[in-house]
Amino acid sequence: MDLPNHWSELDTEQKDLVNRYIWVLLAHQDPLPLIEKPNREVVDRRIEGGVSYQFERVKCGKKNCHKCPHGPYWYAYFRKNGKVVSKYIGKDLPSSYVTDGGSSILPVT
Ligand SMILES: [Zn+2]
Repeated sequence: MDLPNHWSELDTEQKDLVNRYIWVLLAHQDPLPLIEKPNREVVDRRIEGGVSYQFERVKCGKKNCHKCPHGPYWYAYFRKNGKVVSKYIGKDLPSSYVTDGGSSILPVT
């Protein structure tokens, strides 16, 4: 395999791959802690690559809500520019998110 000598010689797909790889490497060095929030109950959790997936029951805090707690729903937590950010996934966690080490959900910078 011929490796390019310079970043500018990489095509978009190769750059994308390198970015994802760096993300996963960085994330592995410093695993995310359990993220607990008021009005949320974490009922399940999976950590893959740079992503922490939490299955959470949510209390919306609205008066007269008879559906509380809501969910549970999956949320992905990961670091972006040093900050922990979250992304709503939904009621199901697609297995592809987990098997690729979280790279399908990590932002490409
Ligand atoms: Zn509610």
